[in-house]
Parts: sequence; structure tokens; C-alpha cells
Amino acid sequence: MMPFKELVLASHNAGKLKELQAMLGDAVRVRSVGEFSDVEPEETGLSFVENAILKARHAARISGLPALADDSGLAVDALGGAPGIYSARYADGAGDAANNAKLLEALRDVPDAERGAQFVCALALLRHAEDPLPILCEGLWHGSILHEARGSNGFGYDPLFWVPERDCSSAELDSSTKNQLSHRARAMAQLRQRLGL
Ligand code: IMP
Repeated sequence: MMPFKELVLASHNAGKLKELQAMLGDAVRVRSVGEFSDVEPEETGLSFVENAILKARHAARISGLPALADDSGLAVDALGGAPGIYSARYADGAGDAANNAKLLEALRDVPDAERGAQFVCALALLRHAEDPLPILCEGLWHGSILHEARGSNGFGYDPLFWVPERDCSSAELDSSTKNQLSHRARAMAQLRQRLGL
């Protein structure tokens, strides 16, 4: 049973909003944080889950509604989990191609057996801004980092992420397959379960 009729998504991304609304169905109306404010909180956390919580708390505070936020990225074993929460700006904001080039360079001398990595998605749902017990879900998608880019679907690090269960890169998957396997899909499935949907 869905515990509330409306919630706010702490994202300005219309695609994410649509995806979440589809997942939750008619039981709840999903609103964008952009309806309430354009001010974005500083992501000062040192982990995905901390950043998801602070984004959700900000959205709950400015909207007065329950709020959901996600934070995601790529954690590479040989780099101690980098680029991690800095995935989007790994190459100082120069974009996906520069991020991928920097990652390949960082792993230049790393052998195949040590190129393990995971995409991570943390979700935080706060019932209200002071909620001391957020619902937290985490989805991990295990794979490894290729030596060169493959495929042209998806975004971000997809061309460098080898998906062992499909023998291809994440950028070679069609979007519906990726949406069944991905870190986001896994975190969302957990959320659905926690909400009893
Ligand atoms: P955000 O949390 O959606 O802003 O994602 C943060 C960053 O992590 C993105 O800019 C990408 O660099 C990376 N990332 C997150 N999810 C994916 C994915 O599914 N494929 C490729 N890169 C991803």
C-alpha cells in the first residue's frame, strides 16, 4: 500500500520523472522539484547514499512533500572506488568523452583480472524533511572496464562498461535490456518492494 498520494522527485530530469511515475503507477502523483525551486543543494556528501539523502531532504523541505532522490555513478575497484560520487565531473566538467578518456588512462597498466567495477545507484525516500529513518535502497551492477570504447547506446561510461552476463558493453545493449539489468533498475525494484507495490 502506497503510504502517500504525492511525492516530489529531487531531479530536474524529465526522463527520470516519467520513468518513476510509470514505476509507481496511478497510486501516487510524482512532481518535479523544479516546480518548487531552481536552487540545487550542494552535494557535499562523501558517499552516494549521503548525497541522495541531502538532495531528498532539500526537496522535502522546499516542497513540504515526501521526497525521493537518486545518486549514481561508477566505482572502479583498482581506483579505490573512483570516480564514484565524482563520476559526472571526473574530467572537471569536460563531458562524457573526456571522463572516459581519463578513466582509460588511469587504468592503462591495469590487467584484465583487476579491472572490476560497478555502477551504483542509491535512492533515498524521506517522508518529510526531518524524517530520521529514510527508506534507503542501493542497486549495484557488476562488470569490468574495457580497454577501449564499444557501442553507441546509453550515456556516460556505458561504452567502457563490460556486462559479463550479456558478453557486450553496456552501450551495446538496447535500452529496454539495460533498464532490466542496471543499477537503477535494481534499486527501483528494491524500492517497489519496500513500498509494497
Ligand atoms: P546521475 O546521478 O544520474 O547524475 O549520474 C552521475 C554520473 O554517473 C553520470 O553523469 C555518468 O557519468 C555516471 N553514470 C550513472 N549511471 C550511468 C549509466 O547507467 N551509464 C553510464 N554512466 C552512468
